[in-house]
Amino acid sequence: MESDAKKVLILGSTGSIGKSTLDVIRQFPERFRVAGLVAGKNGDKLKQQVEEFEPEAAALFEGELETPAGVDFYSGEEGIKSLIQDIDFDIVVAAISGASGIIPTFEAAKKAERVALANKESLVCAGKFIKSVAKEIIPVDSEHSAIFQALLSGRKEEVKEIILTASGGPFRGKKLEELRDVKPEDALSHPNWDMGNKVTIDSATLMNKGLEVIEAVWLFDIPVEKIKVVVHPQSIVHSVVRFCDNSFIAQMGKPDMKIPVAYALSYPERLFLPDSLGMEFYGLSLTFEKPDLETFKCLKLAFEALNKGYPYPIILNAADEIAVNCFLDKKIPFTAIPEVIEKTMEILNLSPPETIEEVVSIDRLAREAAEKVVQSFIV
Ligand code: MG
Repeated sequence: MESDAKKVLILGSTGSIGKSTLDVIRQFPERFRVAGLVAGKNGDKLKQQVEEFEPEAAALFEGELETPAGVDFYSGEEGIKSLIQDIDFDIVVAAISGASGIIPTFEAAKKAERVALANKESLVCAGKFIKSVAKEIIPVDSEHSAIFQALLSGRKEEVKEIILTASGGPFRGKKLEELRDVKPEDALSHPNWDMGNKVTIDSATLMNKGLEVIEAVWLFDIPVEKIKVVVHPQSIVHSVVRFCDNSFIAQMGKPDMKIPVAYALSYPERLFLPDSLGMEFYGLSLTFEKPDLETFKCLKLAFEALNKGYPYPIILNAADEIAVNCFLDKKIPFTAIPEVIEKTMEILNLSPPETIEEVVSIDRLAREAAEKVVQSFIV
């Protein structure tokens, strides 16, 4: 039976964006069909998803899985590449967390009509290469989805400023000395968003916003001077575009990723999502503050990496992944995260990548360097 449903490949199906995507697809089976599911190592969850959505194929980055007849199974990095080659899809939802998402996103971008992009690292580290192969990139990240929507209100040359909102994370308002003893469990309790561990810690350090600034530069082809970060603790205004006539166009909504996920799948149309995703305006109060770049130095480092250009964003990102993992393993204090990144950026002297393979090798070298730097911060 032929259907008009768009065929969707989800890279990172068991993570929080992957699950939100499946929630949307579940509600609109006439519009979307799951073509393939790729996950990291959560075989149990993937098995459940395979049984419910009956894709053509599924893959695990790590591990094996018994799939029902008719569902091909692939494993490992090469397996994921083969799955991307073998199956037919219209949209790829690129939602693998971290730099390991870069190559799968790149491979899938070559084939897809649309990349619904949630993996920021793809643009932070390999923006040039991903953009050169992708037909269309629609952002999934809530801030970038907001900017994308606001930009539809004017022409590119009329944009004066992009105001990227940040929740400020669980430590907003704290000073550096108060952060020395915070534990992973403190940093993992995000006030507004329910996300994976890496991005939650990045929200607490403001590195997430730093990566988003870099992502925005690539996505919208906007110079960094036009991007401003504003702390907005309620996470209702997802970002704002200021036009030349001083109109500020914002996109607002409940902080739930199903809204930007649905938009990235259905654009230029909008889906009729349930009222439970709406919000009550009576009593709503919205506040905006300047970010504290001394306490949350990661954001400053991201601007620095962006100004220095390739390969610094790759080094920044790799060192951050290493530092965040070490913090989660309780090897280094929270306040050492920016120190590790800064030091790694200082000691590495590498040329800009010419190919996507070079992005991967710079990422690997930066990880090795960061691993060594981390040693001096181990408590
Ligand atoms: Mg975001």
